[in-house]
Amino acid sequence: MAKISDFGNWKRAAELLATEAARNPFVQRQIERSSTNAAELSSDPDAWAKLAFVMKDDMMEDQRLKPPFGTRCTFDVPDLSIIVESSGTTAMGKEVHCITKPDYDKTMATWGVSLKQMGIGPKDIIAMTLPVGMSGGGVKHVDAYVALGAKMMRLANLSTRAKLDAMAYYGTTVAIGTPFYIDRLGAIADEAGIDVSKLKVRKLIVATQSVTVDWIKATEAKWNAKLYEWYGTASGMIAFSCGQGMLNDKGERGTLHWDPDFELNEIRNEETGELVEDGQRGEVIATPMVSEAEPLFRIRTRDEATFRAPGKCACGSHWPGIEAGTVRRLDGTFKVKGVNIWPSHCEAVIFSLGFVRDYRVRIHAKGGREAMQLDLLADGAKTPPDLAHQLGEKLRQQTGLGFDVVVTEDSAGWLHETTGEIAKPRRWVDERMK
Ligand SMILES: [Zn+2]
Repeated sequence: MAKISDFGNWKRAAELLATEAARNPFVQRQIERSSTNAAELSSDPDAWAKLAFVMKDDMMEDQRLKPPFGTRCTFDVPDLSIIVESSGTTAMGKEVHCITKPDYDKTMATWGVSLKQMGIGPKDIIAMTLPVGMSGGGVKHVDAYVALGAKMMRLANLSTRAKLDAMAYYGTTVAIGTPFYIDRLGAIADEAGIDVSKLKVRKLIVATQSVTVDWIKATEAKWNAKLYEWYGTASGMIAFSCGQGMLNDKGERGTLHWDPDFELNEIRNEETGELVEDGQRGEVIATPMVSEAEPLFRIRTRDEATFRAPGKCACGSHWPGIEAGTVRRLDGTFKVKGVNIWPSHCEAVIFSLGFVRDYRVRIHAKGGREAMQLDLLADGAKTPPDLAHQLGEKLRQQTGLGFDVVVTEDSAGWLHETTGEIAKPRRWVDERMK
């Protein structure tokens, strides 16, 4: 059976926890909800399974208790270096995370080790297509790559076509984006008669969605470039591809590794709570150990991934990790254009108008662009003529994303889907990677 002591520095985590148990109200509340204590966690690695999780709701409640950073931040503003938010929609609440300057420098150095393993260095000119906003991903990317001496071209505010022109003009060697955005760049390049394999881009670095092996192969062939991946959370957990990339020479999925001295991440079976073995799937439980200002232990990410034990990757590293391209949300949320969408939240908005009998949402790729089509079955007697517009606006306010709303009052095509064997049809379908 997998043991935490085989792949993580649980003793370091226990030391941090013991310090915080004496002074940090958030950690004290966590220990109060647990069937273990700091002393047991220092002597028994198996006791870590008994330390209660930190959930997103715990962090949101903590922020309400003491805005803006929560009781978990025991440092004063002058001692903090950078503040980031999680990428969720405002309506669901955003986690706020803070870090000191020495810890931020340490984080950037930790990123640097992984970026070097991917072959990034001063010779690289990088097309950064992610926005640099309040979420951690954008700003940390810029800072970490710049610290390595790489040239970071911040292209997020340009049109897709203008990004391609900038990539050609500067001769960028690396492009960073979501898998969909890499597809979009490819599609717009095709329209413009640009052969992306003739650009100087030889590395594509992606995150935020699971992808098929076929997608990796096709994308690498189209760009004549190798794909790498990272996985990270706003709270500071981070894992990167090694030199093997997303797909190794044998055509097998690569590994995203983390440094076990800086992170004590557990991959546990969601049902049994047991640590999973190499190659098995489980939920990522993150203990980043990167922020003294905001010490967090056992964050339940609601992300599921395939565990790779130390030494199992073809690179031979003793760092543990997760399999490339296989992270999936467990809570039913979808990530569209990098934004988390909660179907239950959208559903409440849709039914709040009172004219809707049923609906379907199809998330798809249109010309390489992520789009959401919302089909509504409306109640004909009461439907206002601008229902599609009204609802589209309301959803945009709530989620920050646009929906293509199509209203029908003809229930003929819907009835056979909503009756019979499948009592509850799947209202949300993700067709992006088909
Ligand atoms: Zn590796």
